Amino acid sequence: MSFESLNLIEPIQKALQAEGYTQPTPIQAQAIPIILQGTDLLGCAQTGTGKTAAFAIPIIQLLAQKEEDRRGRRKVRALILTPTRELAIQIGESFEAYGKYTDLRSTVIFGGVKQGKQSDALHNGVDILIATPGRLLDLMAQKIVTLAYIEMFVLDEADRMLDMGFVHDVNRVLSALPKKRQSLFFSATMPPEILKLAGMILHNPSKVEV
Ligand code: AMP
Repeated sequence: MSFESLNLIEPIQKALQAEGYTQPTPIQAQAIPIILQGTDLLGCAQTGTGKTAAFAIPIIQLLAQKEEDRRGRRKVRALILTPTRELAIQIGESFEAYGKYTDLRSTVIFGGVKQGKQSDALHNGVDILIATPGRLLDLMAQKIVTLAYIEMFVLDEADRMLDMGFVHDVNRVLSALPKKRQSLFFSATMPPEILKLAGMILHNPSKVEV
């Protein structure tokens, strides 16, 4: 299988070439067509499998194909929620790399640092937001972020999220998301409490396991 058969837009193909990627990994080959169709996804995959590109590439494609009206400030249309600062930064770098030939903007927010630069970036307008739960809720409470325009939501590393005690924070984020959205849920393990959480988030999901 090659990236050509995935019908990716030219700016993404060019970015993948620049990264030196020649073939999709198994999770990418399975997940990208499902996500491009607009279907919710339950993905059982660990870090190192190419999971980040499996969701970042189709999110970039769907948002780039549906550019919003540029007369107003950009609205955050995709939210990626991830448990740690390190993961957030890595995911942010992936969106930058795969989206570099598109007009989309992304930014990363996480705790433990002053919020000034993060709120400036949000104020300037971003399409894609990568966040850890605590800082996201802080900035929502200050009305620096709204989730009212989210079209695509990713819960990354759901099992680690619960292990780290983020269940209440995740629930608060979920209650602020629009009902009509596409959701993608990734976890390395699928114990009952994770499947229960997935059931609350996803609507008729396709399942992918690697
Ligand atoms: P991840 O599982 O998302 O943390 O990705 C693991 C590593 O694989 C990252 O360093 C990516 O840059 C790399 N990677 C992802 N997709 C591909 C691909 N299709 N070909 C080569 N490397 C890839």
